Amino acid sequence: MHELDDVDAVGVIGAGTMGGGIAQVAATAGYEVVVRDVETEYLDRGLERIDSSLDRLADRGSLEEDPAAVRERIATTTDLDELADVDLTIEAVIEDLDVKRDVFADLDGIVGPDVPMATNTSTLSVTAIASATDRPASVVGLHFMNPVPIMEGVEVVRGERTGADVLEFAHAFAEDLGKTTWESADKPGFVTNRILMPWINEGIRAYDEGVASKEDIDAGMRLGTNVPMGPLELADRIGLDVVLAASETLREELGDRYTPAYLLKRKVEAGDLGRKSGRGFYEYERDER
Ligand code: NAD
Repeated sequence: MHELDDVDAVGVIGAGTMGGGIAQVAATAGYEVVVRDVETEYLDRGLERIDSSLDRLADRGSLEEDPAAVRERIATTTDLDELADVDLTIEAVIEDLDVKRDVFADLDGIVGPDVPMATNTSTLSVTAIASATDRPASVVGLHFMNPVPIMEGVEVVRGERTGADVLEFAHAFAEDLGKTTWESADKPGFVTNRILMPWINEGIRAYDEGVASKEDIDAGMRLGTNVPMGPLELADRIGLDVVLAASETLREELGDRYTPAYLLKRKVEAGDLGRKSGRGFYEYERDER
């Protein structure tokens, strides 16, 4: 059985947009967190973003503790072996099946045999990730939304071999972080990205075909359909490389109706990745996530 009470320390793999956010909310909920990335520079940038997010939340009165107290619970490392003693792992590395499978295979040999292993994948098969380990019943999708500290929802994804106790544990853990969960089968894109990705790509095509300016496309969808962000501003927030990788996976699995927009590919080729690179469809102060 996997019990919430058995979890003191959480290992987060990847210190990017999502990994940093997940580390922050886990530490805020009182867990000890160890974050692993491949370069110290990425860890430092991740910590800077966590610091500014915690400060903003504290200024708004939305943080019960001093930001420094939360930060004390977050350790960083470039050495995966330092996750040996964690009680749960959450993977948030780039959206690439081979990279994720390597991470899971390595972690499988490092963490304790009963430790649940979660992936934050947007669209990849949780089942394919789980099969890189000898514990597929302990692998589950915990799909946090961006920005993690602000967004209330977490999608729990049931891989083909995910055990019922691990599923229940995943819901309980996310709820302990103050989130509300829903569950999806391990079908491409789950609930959210299956529906969101074609919407974003259609917004990009509409812009590319001159239907309206980017501002008007975003305003039209915000004001006309009552969503908080239009497709182009949302794509910039997600990261255009992440949108492209997710769209390509969906096209492979579900067919041509998921073909990514040409302009999305060109932007990624140009290194315009959205907020994280300072330019996507709009311009930003660098790393304004
Ligand atoms: P990102 O590019 O901001 O960060 C990825 C991080 O992973 C980078 O810091 C990179 O150095 C690191 N990394 C790469 N290989 C690694 C390894 N072997 N070990 C440790 N770290 C490694 O990407 P992101 O937006 O944080 O996305 C991470 C995952 O979360 C992806 O699977 C993505 O699909 C998913 N996701 C993203 C969003 C979003 O809005 N960006 C939302 C939900 C889920």
